[in-house]
Amino acid sequence: MKKDKIIIAIDGFSSTGKSTIAKQLATALNYVYVDTGAMYRAVTLFAMQNRLVGKDFLNEEALVSSLNQIDLRFVFNPTLKYAEIYLNGVNVEKEIRSIALSQLVSKIAAISEVRKKLVEQQQKMGKERGIVMDGRDIGTVVFPDAELKLFLTADPEKRAIRRYKELLDKGHDVNYPEVLENVQQRDLIDSTREDSPLTKADDAVEIDNSDMGLQDQFERIYDLANRRIKALSS
Ligand code: C5P
Repeated sequence: MKKDKIIIAIDGFSSTGKSTIAKQLATALNYVYVDTGAMYRAVTLFAMQNRLVGKDFLNEEALVSSLNQIDLRFVFNPTLKYAEIYLNGVNVEKEIRSIALSQLVSKIAAISEVRKKLVEQQQKMGKERGIVMDGRDIGTVVFPDAELKLFLTADPEKRAIRRYKELLDKGHDVNYPEVLENVQQRDLIDSTREDSPLTKADDAVEIDNSDMGLQDQFERIYDLANRRIKALSS
């Protein structure tokens, strides 16, 4: 079968700009963009709404048995030019970015049953190829055969500043130290969990964007993507 659309897997630490480059690539290539972090965040929101998780507690058993009550969908927003996430029919795009939720999401993402459900859904979304997906385990677990894998890194302080500004712009009430602490805490939990820890796939291209402008980064990665697409269709 001649394939002309590839799968692009983007993994990396928190706030390394994965979603920014993923959206740019998806728009330029006319591919679908899937933000898998939003899916883990939406499950966390469900757990918070049902008092199954908090700062000092996690009712893992109850969450696992209510996973079948969680319906996640992405709906394309033509104004924003990307798909927003809906939890049981409600757009939760803003709510899932709060700092309170960010402090709980890595605990929820470490639960194997949660990962199994979401990974299955993610693999279905990639069936038609032509997809850019970002997360922590995309190149290692979700699409180990992706034609292009990227692994993004950057200094923690720079990442925290970016995330802090982004949250302020979106109207969240945050302070810099708590954002920095959250970024470091999530990196630690995400990299050391037992199930699908954040690691660079052997065949991923590593990009440290601490001192790289967005346009430079885009041009470099867009070129890589076009080479992989060309190699496939020739
Ligand atoms: O990408 P984002 O920062 O929104 O992801 C939120 C959290 O979801 C991560 O810190 C991680 O705990 C979890 N996650 C994951 N696997 C993915 C995507 C996100 O474990 N593929």
